[in-house]
Amino acid sequence: MVSYDCVFCKIILGEILSEFIYESELFFAIRDINPIALTHILIIPKIHINYLELIHEFPSFDFNEMYAVALEIASKENILNSGYRLVINQKEDSGQEVEHLHLHLIGGNKLKDIG
Ligand code: AMP
Ligand code: ZN
Repeated sequence: MVSYDCVFCKIILGEILSEFIYESELFFAIRDINPIALTHILIIPKIHINYLELIHEFPSFDFNEMYAVALEIASKENILNSGYRLVINQKEDSGQEVEHLHLHLIGGNKLKDIG
């Protein structure tokens, strides 16, 4: 369930110290170390899932819950009404750096148009 080469698994195991701004049985959230907006939070499942296409191998994983966590944090960060972006990067063309599924919650200021 954990990968020893993975920075997020190392955070889960306590090998890399990080402040959890949210934690439940299945998820935790931290502030991105290299934020691209005033609010930049990562919502991370506690199980090591590399890629979205492998999600069927993890029946305990629940997208609804991950997005519910993001909304709860967006509310606490006071960006629910001003606006935010939810992003999942996948593989090379997206610039994915950490191969452990995570949802970026980005907001707090006007974001660059992506389309
Ligand atoms: P991605 O490019 O979607 O894989 O995003 C990975 C994100 O994790 C990047 O935005 C990094 O800045 C962030 N990151 C990497 N290591 C840490 C860490 N130890 N604590 C917080 N954020 C991190
Ligand atoms: Zn991992």
